[in-house]
Amino acid sequence: RKAREEEQRSLPAETRDGHRVEVAANVNRPDQVAAAIASGAEGVGLMRTEFLFLERDDSPDEAEQLATYQGMLQALEGRPLIVRTLDIGGDKQVPYLNLPHEENPFLGMRGARLLLRRRDLLEPQLRALYRAARGGQPLSIMFPMITSLKEITRLKGLCEGIRRELDAPVVPIGIMVEVPAAATLADKLAEHVDFFSIGTNDLTQYALAIDRQHPELAAEADSLHPAVLRLIHQTVQGAALHGRWVGVCGGIAGDPFGAALLTGLGVNELSMSPRDVASVKARLRGSDFAKLAALAQQALDCDSAEEVRALQSLLS
Ligand code: PEP
Ligand code: MG
Repeated sequence: RKAREEEQRSLPAETRDGHRVEVAANVNRPDQVAAAIASGAEGVGLMRTEFLFLERDDSPDEAEQLATYQGMLQALEGRPLIVRTLDIGGDKQVPYLNLPHEENPFLGMRGARLLLRRRDLLEPQLRALYRAARGGQPLSIMFPMITSLKEITRLKGLCEGIRRELDAPVVPIGIMVEVPAAATLADKLAEHVDFFSIGTNDLTQYALAIDRQHPELAAEADSLHPAVLRLIHQTVQGAALHGRWVGVCGGIAGDPFGAALLTGLGVNELSMSPRDVASVKARLRGSDFAKLAALAQQALDCDSAEEVRALQSLLS
């Protein structure tokens, strides 16, 4: 039975009518990669690099970061790795960086906004990433909390400068779509990036104006709210105009029904906690893409998250 389970896990997430979705894992440390692969993950779709900076007294230098990225690539044995640059601020604080106090940290200096102002943080990270890329394994760079084309242009300019200096290969550069502005501008932004990964945790928080950690309201911040689904739909359509792929790396990607709806909306990759990989793959393998696409259209027309969730009864 165990052998059969393992065989099932290693099968691709392909629907009965032959539509394939990439299933990746959210993994932050090299020592967690093997377990993610054993669970059926086809790569790492989100490495949150905050974890390199937390619970210590100073920033990891370029050499230390390089060792970690190389460790990830080595453990992945040729499978793809997407590294997200530091997303400090918001719910993640790092005392030794001495960042100014924020009245409203989720609407303040976080993600790309901070990186563009703190080159001392961004540049060693990019240098470590490009040095890791010289090993020839598939590595992509992803920037968090993007709201405008200007941020993308500036970040890409810095990447290109470092890449040349290090004589490193070109690597795909993508952005997190986790602010409604990025989702609604997806058709414009897609021209300038290689891929999108939708961060539904933040996208939901910002679309519904509910703090994702609010003790009373957070439960209502449902990523299957039709307003969020419409933003995802818009992102997929914008990406398609330029032939870019779209992933989802927020929590809803690991929910089997959520994964089914996202697939129906045309999302190409789902990245989730390793513990969710097997059930998501099983859900998709048991589905017809044509049905999921029709279901997704129905979901876009719902009035509430409850109504969207009720559609679950239509899936056999
Ligand atoms: C998200 O916002 O959905 C996401 C994946 O990023 P994080 O949870 O790290 O903010
Ligand atoms: Mg986020």
